[in-house]
Amino acid sequence: MNNKPNNIRELLCRALTSQVELGINEVIIKRDSQHTAKSDGQNTIQSVPVGELFPDLNTEHPGGAEYDSLESHYAAICNCLNCPLGNTRTKFVYGVGHPQAPIVFVGEGPGKTEDEIGEPFVGQAGKLLDKILEAIKFDRTQVYIANMVKCRPPNNREPLPEEMDACYPYLMEQLRLIRPKLICALGRVAAKGLLKTNSSLGKLRGRWHEFRGMQVLVTYHPAALLRFPSYKKDTWEDMKKLRARYDEMAK
Ligand code: URA
Repeated sequence: MNNKPNNIRELLCRALTSQVELGINEVIIKRDSQHTAKSDGQNTIQSVPVGELFPDLNTEHPGGAEYDSLESHYAAICNCLNCPLGNTRTKFVYGVGHPQAPIVFVGEGPGKTEDEIGEPFVGQAGKLLDKILEAIKFDRTQVYIANMVKCRPPNNREPLPEEMDACYPYLMEQLRLIRPKLICALGRVAAKGLLKTNSSLGKLRGRWHEFRGMQVLVTYHPAALLRFPSYKKDTWEDMKKLRARYDEMAK
């Protein structure tokens, strides 16, 4: 049996699901009016609710709702138990920085210190991230810093795909509220999780990727730089690229 239409439908559903995650519940389509009750033989352009096109698609905003501020979003989700990490966390690590930051840095997930304090990137890797920011003339108050998951994975293991999936709508809602122009994905887990790709870090790093109207630059995770100082040179090139793109956009 030819399953092409199913694949196209699946691709379309996936694309629409991404839009719905961003809170967009309508699509503009060119509708052949021969197929509508009032046919005038013309093609008409209409705004149609996603749910009308695909009744089986969940068009509920997955974060539960859209929020009007980071504070109200935080208050609504900070007791989350949607994945097992909620049972083992000390603190929920939401994110920190400017609520309208032009750049959002996305890491993997809280470590021990972050879990204790409730703020991302405050341990050893965080100190290095502060230095990196300083080198491109930013500080924590001018950008926003968040992670793929809000709760610490036990023993600093990588977050599991299902844990990242459970937390993804929270990050999407933060991005919707902040509306950054640029995102810097720190390391393989953040890059692959955010862009939903299986490409290697080697292929993704140092390049701009389009993501829902934002531009994503992938670079090494600061913890990797602590382990492999030779990566610092490439990271510096990446950071110069990030600063230059920010400066261009700020003109
Ligand atoms: N590593 C991360 O990816 N995020 C943090 O918040 C701290 C360390």
